[in-house]
Amino acid sequence: REGAELEALQHADVARLLPVPAAESDKYRRGVVGIAAGSARYPGAAVLAVAGALRGGAGAVRYVGPAGDAVIARYPETLVSDQGPKRAGRVQAWVVGPGAGDDAATVAQVLAAEVPVLIDADGLRLADADAVRARTAPTLMTPHAGEAAALLGVAREEVEGARLASVRELAARYGATVLLKGSTTLVASAKGGPVRVNATGTSWLATAGSGDVLSGLAGSLLAAGLSALDAGSAAAYLHGLAGRFAADGAPAGAHDVSDAIPRAWRDVR
Ligand code: AMP
Ligand code: MG
Repeated sequence: REGAELEALQHADVARLLPVPAAESDKYRRGVVGIAAGSARYPGAAVLAVAGALRGGAGAVRYVGPAGDAVIARYPETLVSDQGPKRAGRVQAWVVGPGAGDDAATVAQVLAAEVPVLIDADGLRLADADAVRARTAPTLMTPHAGEAAALLGVAREEVEGARLASVRELAARYGATVLLKGSTTLVASAKGGPVRVNATGTSWLATAGSGDVLSGLAGSLLAAGLSALDAGSAAAYLHGLAGRFAADGAPAGAHDVSDAIPRAWRDVR
């Protein structure tokens, strides 16, 4: 019975989703992704989210937040601003939350934007539920089991014991697409329908910063115009493969995973 409720992600389906720039494309057509992440305490989360976004094919990555120097040192192509999201200039999709600490004002500003938004990590905790439900542009939330449990007000074990029901419940409650991370990843659309399952990952991905890379990667795909369901699914698929390529039977750091995204992309195409 569950079979009809679940849809396993296939290589060929993901291949069709990956955007390729048209011959006459420019960076705006490819999509500008905005990253509102990182804090004085967690500057690395910003760097890793930007890394995922750059590997996700965006025409440009804009970063807003307190970790601009760290971001630029590693990725000089990033457009860095110390103004808030409202003044950041053109952005076609936002990623908010990784390592963001307690900056609720930035989360609120991003949620008010009329473009697709991905909410991860601290952003999930700081986002006002009514503000999420009120959004008209696509919203993609990317909790792990602990974050999903906090949103649902239940124990983590309860989510782990009922992952399918949990991801659906969150999608319905928030009117958002929800990607539940774990050893497999489930992606449930706000509109219901079959829940997509990704199993390309590896337990080597259970490493700090891994989810930050995924958020940037999915953000780029949102900026390129994919639906929240497709962006989340394709990002999970690529991220899992990148984890396999990066680790290859030995430990890898989250930055290695981001560096392996191009190889995953080539493998899928
Ligand atoms: P986060 O918890 O936000 O750092 O995200 C961790 C990332 O690694 C998510 O994309 C998870 O799906 C993935 N991940 C964590 N543990 C495993 C595992 N045991 N097997 C496969 N993927 C995993
Ligand atoms: Mg995380």
